[in-house]
Amino acid sequence: LLIIDDLHVAFSTRRGMVEAVRGVTLTVEKGEMLGLVGESGSGKSVTGFATTRLLEAAGRVTGGRILFRGQDVTKLRGDDLRQLQGAAMSMIFQNPRAALNPIRAIGLQIADAILTHKRISKDAARAEALDLLRAVQIREPEARMNAYPHELSGGMCQRVMIAIAISCNPALLIADEPTTGLDVTTQKVVMDLLADIAAARGMATILITHDLGLAARYCRRIAVMERGRIVEEASSRTLFGAPQHAYTRRLVAASP
Ligand code: ATP
Ligand code: MG
Repeated sequence: LLIIDDLHVAFSTRRGMVEAVRGVTLTVEKGEMLGLVGESGSGKSVTGFATTRLLEAAGRVTGGRILFRGQDVTKLRGDDLRQLQGAAMSMIFQNPRAALNPIRAIGLQIADAILTHKRISKDAARAEALDLLRAVQIREPEARMNAYPHELSGGMCQRVMIAIAISCNPALLIADEPTTGLDVTTQKVVMDLLADIAAARGMATILITHDLGLAARYCRRIAVMERGRIVEEASSRTLFGAPQHAYTRRLVAASP
């Protein structure tokens, strides 16, 4: 589904160009959940942003290819780019509350997302939004349609973000630290939900996290990033049982 081949991303800063991603190569198969782990600043998010074409203006892909269904994402423009971002791929982030509009009811925000990629009536979009709230297992969804983000817990907000992310039925979801900031029980609930939805829809997922344990629980395969490079990629079992790279050994040793 996705082949990232020798990706390089650099940022222009006051000190000149700084390479944040320095030759990342990885593949994601249809429907699989791949773990992308590594310490803060290792380039996980930048890799995700380059893939979904959400890099901020200062960032530039300076080398390599990102093939999604055989098409080079880095070269897409116009309608093809909108198709990629509006239907083929979605991304969710660490702080769901910040991504939601504080003064708009969540049902309307989900409907807005649906209307950006589907030509249907507002009523039909609201009906779909309600279905999505059910899909992410929000209790009393009819009443919750009218709730504002501040009335929901962090875990609930992340469910709403998942609802928005899957509203276009993407083939690939990039989940960037989706459970950071949630308590451990809620972390598990949200991750179980994400895994169930991905399995039911055949949606591939890249789970970006600094938590190797979390990745091992949900991903069969894990890629480890350090300072802009993938230093090791293996099955979760191999990674824990026989980590090859010194950095991976340190990560494993540091995991509870
Ligand atoms: P974290 O776990 O903290 O989220 P990460 O692995 O996601 O870390 P990235 O956010 O991908 O790390 O950042 C990788 C590198 O890119 C960092 O060294 C960072 O300084 C640099 N970087 C990211 N965004 C910018 C930017 N807008 N301008 C300059 N440098 C940037
Ligand atoms: Mg990050």
